Amino acid sequence: MRARIRELGRQISTDYANRELVLVGILKGAYCFYADLARPIRIPLWVDFLVVTSYGSKAKTTGKVKMVTDLTEDIGGKDVILVEDIVDSGLTVEFLTKKLTRRKPKSIKVCTLLSKPDRRKVNVKIDYVGFEIPNHYVVGYGLDYQQQYRNLPYLAVLDAADPDELFG
Ligand code: 5GP
Repeated sequence: MRARIRELGRQISTDYANRELVLVGILKGAYCFYADLARPIRIPLWVDFLVVTSYGSKAKTTGKVKMVTDLTEDIGGKDVILVEDIVDSGLTVEFLTKKLTRRKPKSIKVCTLLSKPDRRKVNVKIDYVGFEIPNHYVVGYGLDYQQQYRNLPYLAVLDAADPDELFG
């Protein structure tokens, strides 16, 4: 995983050389990935974050995404990369891309550590993907189940097809 993240960082450095890059972390889940992705990037960049919550069952998003904390800087005219932990239905990325596009950035791209293509409900373009994974619920390395497990220093599959069934 470490090698792949370094590779993504190097790719971003090449793709964004001489541009005004804002690396936007989507919290909370992306915090570990963000820190490890930013360090191998060898070009100047702005660091910013937003916090989103999604409503619905404990383990699944319903598409009702809410931004609870906004960016601190203006992204107008800048090149933005949204940094996600995992893209599942695609609804979070779709929601945020639409919302931030209204602020007239020069470009918006998406970088995610994990992607579950089989679960996609909307067709979103993901520009940088760490790993495509099958339909399992993963925790650790920033990812939670009911706000727990985020601090595990590795990614793990929660041992259930449907975590909501397991935990009631
Ligand atoms: P989407 O809007 O693409 O359906 O979902 C994105 C968000 O759902 C992720 O940022 C993450 O918070 C949550 N999510 C989706 N799949 C998983 C998973 O396997 N494990 C964890 N911990 N969160 C997930």
